[in-house]
Amino acid sequence: MYRTHTCGELRIADNNKEVTLAGWVQTVRKFGAITFVDLRDRYGITQLLFGEKLNKVLEENPLGREFVLQATGKVNERSNKNANIPTGDIEINVSSFTILNKSAVPPFTIQDDTDGGDDLRMKYRFLDLRRNAVKKNLELRYAVNRAARNYLHSNGFMDIETPFLIKSTPEGARDFVVPSRMNPGQFYALPQSPQTFKQLLMVSGYDRYYQVVKCFRDEDLRADRQPEFTQIDCEMAFVEQEDILNMFEGMIKSIFKEVKGIDYTEKVERMTWEDAMWNYGNDKPDIRFSMKVLNLKKPASVYVNKADQSSLINGADFKVFDEAETVLAIAVPGCSEYSRKQTDELTEWVKRPQVGMKGLVFIKCLPAGQAGNADGTYKSSVDKFYSEERLKAIADAAGGKAGDLILILAGVEERTRKAISDLRMEMANRLGLRNDNEYKLLWVLDFPLFEYDEEGNRWVARHHPFTSPKPSDIETMISNDPVIHNAAEYLKHPYANIKANAYDMVLNGNEIGGGSIRIYQRELQEKMFAALGMDKEEQLHKFGFLLGAFEYGAPPHGGIAYGFDRLCAILGGSESIRDFIAFPKNNSGRDVMLDAPATIDEKQLRELQIKTDVTGD
Ligand code: ASP
Repeated sequence: MYRTHTCGELRIADNNKEVTLAGWVQTVRKFGAITFVDLRDRYGITQLLFGEKLNKVLEENPLGREFVLQATGKVNERSNKNANIPTGDIEINVSSFTILNKSAVPPFTIQDDTDGGDDLRMKYRFLDLRRNAVKKNLELRYAVNRAARNYLHSNGFMDIETPFLIKSTPEGARDFVVPSRMNPGQFYALPQSPQTFKQLLMVSGYDRYYQVVKCFRDEDLRADRQPEFTQIDCEMAFVEQEDILNMFEGMIKSIFKEVKGIDYTEKVERMTWEDAMWNYGNDKPDIRFSMKVLNLKKPASVYVNKADQSSLINGADFKVFDEAETVLAIAVPGCSEYSRKQTDELTEWVKRPQVGMKGLVFIKCLPAGQAGNADGTYKSSVDKFYSEERLKAIADAAGGKAGDLILILAGVEERTRKAISDLRMEMANRLGLRNDNEYKLLWVLDFPLFEYDEEGNRWVARHHPFTSPKPSDIETMISNDPVIHNAAEYLKHPYANIKANAYDMVLNGNEIGGGSIRIYQRELQEKMFAALGMDKEEQLHKFGFLLGAFEYGAPPHGGIAYGFDRLCAILGGSESIRDFIAFPKNNSGRDVMLDAPATIDEKQLRELQIKTDVTGD
């Protein structure tokens, strides 16, 4: 037996017990004739005391950091207790020990505050994984995994594996492909998600499916993306949107409870996509704080049901507003005292290429008493164009109160809407309104079914091609020709306003899950493919299996998938999903530990009948 206890287990109640521990040497401290060693394993750290006799043996066999050690001895109460660790009341008075294995000097210290930089730690990820900080993240990941499985299992869901070597499943990214040796010139694709398989499982009658599953998407990577990532992937048959929302609200609440001890009892808020974009400039708004967007113009767009508020800014001869497609404002609480320097800095912030605005207009809602005013007053960078009364009207409409700072952006629709959302988040960060320990869930509903692709002058699926339109929009979809004859007026095409039976779950401004009610009739699915520009032949080539299956009694069904890595990162209070993956890739999609991707042998290439031309000429 290598050990009787773990290094995190022994307490004062174990005093005088004879024990054997095994683990890694964290530190060695020599005090004259005695030596203290901190021994570490996954469960904790225990102090070992080597007395005079063993010290001699140690001199001949010196211990180094990360040596693997087995030590036997008696548990003793420590004279010098360490209140910071659970085993801090005791130590082991070692009577014998064995060095199970030596270690080279590790390239960084295996401690909470390590001296290793990112790259070094990724190269030696197996050592980094020994550190507490990383271990805690993996423990949290496992807890989330367990909680999700427990919930789904107790609700009758069945975990069914689906293949990785498949034919393309379009989810909006490039496929990773795998050459087939047995079928030269042919390739498998790795699944972007198990989407079509889970739908086929519904046709097969497994009406509640789930899988914690790897998905592969060849995308340009941002800090929070990985080429392979994990989803909690689910599908249900005989359900409507409402059933799915309730079931998965339940799952996330159960995860909150089991993993974080949080009772999320309130109903999850719901918002249409149109409201989210209109009021927050974003389809995944953080609703832990308000700072809603005021639309001072109504752009030619899909926001058909929204009010035109342009009278608030019209007729002042202020060209920037008059000529802009979109003018948007937010009221930032308590910032009316911003100095010239601070407003200049904010202006620079919105002018950065990532935000891309030409400038920033502000109105200060100065409270009574400030700057010597009896009743409060409004000061603005556009005083020349707007009377104080008009400034007040704008500020009021934006929800600005005395002491607030109104920030206004003007420009083209898409960019300005994104910019106001970025600015809103930035101000919330600066004001500390985005607290990691506060969780706020939101369902965003009624997304547009199609997005317009300017380059190809055609429609693309906003979610994926298997998403059903809202029942009330099916007729519009069937009875209209998808072709866009007039690109400049694509917004007038009936397809622009078709809504999808789709939903996203948003947590603190992050999309953590998304799904839809699916199309389950062959004709509608064919219509959908045709709308996306696929002719009959291509439809059959790519999706003949699915269209065929729909002819054999496909039940109404729908589902959702959660981004498991992201969910863990948010629950762990981190920005980066990489911290929650045991062996992640870096920003260029490389595994620096394995040094992958890598070239393969000539022989392998020959077997696959593949010629490479890495120079690209
Ligand atoms: N397969 C979809 C995705 O990966 C999720 C779904 O529609 O269930 O986003």
